[in-house]
Amino acid sequence: TAGVVIVGAGQGGFQLAASLRQDGFDRPVTLIGEEPGLPYQRPPLSKAYMADGAGERLVLKPAAFFERAGIERLAGLRVTAIDRAARRVALSDGTQRDYVQLVLATGARNMRPPLPGLDAPGVLGLRTLADAARLRAALVLARAVVVIGGGFIGLEFAAMARQAGLGVTVIEAGERLMARAVTPASSDWFAALHRAMGTDVRLGCAATGVETDAAGRACAVTLADGGRVAGDLILVAAGVRPNVELAAEAGVSVDNGIVVDGCLRSSDPAIFALGDCAAFPLPGAGQVRFESVQAAVEHARHIARAITTGAETAFAMVPWFWSDQGKARLQIAGIAAGADAVQRVPQAAEGGFMALAWAGDRLAAVETVGLAAQHVAARRLIGAPRALIAAAGFDLRQALL
Ligand code: FAD
Repeated sequence: TAGVVIVGAGQGGFQLAASLRQDGFDRPVTLIGEEPGLPYQRPPLSKAYMADGAGERLVLKPAAFFERAGIERLAGLRVTAIDRAARRVALSDGTQRDYVQLVLATGARNMRPPLPGLDAPGVLGLRTLADAARLRAALVLARAVVVIGGGFIGLEFAAMARQAGLGVTVIEAGERLMARAVTPASSDWFAALHRAMGTDVRLGCAATGVETDAAGRACAVTLADGGRVAGDLILVAAGVRPNVELAAEAGVSVDNGIVVDGCLRSSDPAIFALGDCAAFPLPGAGQVRFESVQAAVEHARHIARAITTGAETAFAMVPWFWSDQGKARLQIAGIAAGADAVQRVPQAAEGGFMALAWAGDRLAAVETVGLAAQHVAARRLIGAPRALIAAAGFDLRQALL
């Protein structure tokens, strides 16, 4: 008998399988993942794992969990095609699986900018545990690190490499760090942090290629302004692309992600999508795609409930995110993109940081460093009117009382 087939055994695919069983779903569940081994969490790959190398700690549940829960787990296998008419998927080992509901949890892959030299040894990316293991091994032998891309992953890695005593340069084409996701106030604060750690942060600086030495190994990154930065370990952290090809080839709608409706169903009602690969409507924000643990986990829980109970309730979330860079933990609640004013709140504790982003007179996003209680309060205040928060002296905990 057929049940639910999940394509992708990452954060969201794992959560869906677990939540289905938690919700009492009693038909077959099959979790198919291209990567070898057990499902694991990615956030520590650019954080604790770089320091301690303890990959086993990243595993979400041991093999016995899947056996006990009656979840069929296929690792190291790729789903190669979806036959929507027959409700069947084809696997890379030549076998097939029938489904009643199919959930696409295929995640995203690293973007490779079209620059010459990116295939040279010494140029690496960071997405999977295998990538992280390679990067960690390379770090031991490296002298100078160049990071292409000043986003979360590039900056987290830069901080780790710097703490390991290496020379680090971050090259960012945009005028500020993490520009896609945070306010200019946070970008500036983090540029100062990285510079204080001794990292060479270059903004408005586009990489044009990687130079190799006589042995063919990467030895420098060339720049649009004619300059070059020497480095023997180059991390390309220039953003990701959602894995949508499987869906697109099956004729499922795709537009910066697999397009899903308010119930997280794709253009084929038997197919859901979640996490990094899904573009979903978020009330007040339009069609969005998030690359966050929270989105993957909350999507998965919502879909599990929909499948188990048949409920057609609309998905909603207040987005939150974190990033650890050196000693600073950045926490974000809400969405800063599209805000029209940013306010630094000076009362923030010693060494801390808080910026409020406003859309009209409504709180759109809150960014904090070292102020966990304010962040937790912020998650409940997104969308609240300015008057309410001003009356509390812009102390978010007070505003909730
Ligand atoms: P993934 O966890 O990426 O899983 C997708 C899986 O699907 C992959 O294993 C892939 O191999 C598999 N797959 C794809 N196509 C197929 C196919 N055809 N057949 C079979 N399998 C397939 N988020 C945060 O919120 N906070 C953080 O601090 C943070 N730090 C991060 C640090 C790093 C280094 C990285 C890489 C990510 C980080 N993220 C962070 C993002 C977070 O890990 C992702 O948003 C989350 O893993 C998304 O879950 P997902 O299930 O959508 O995709």
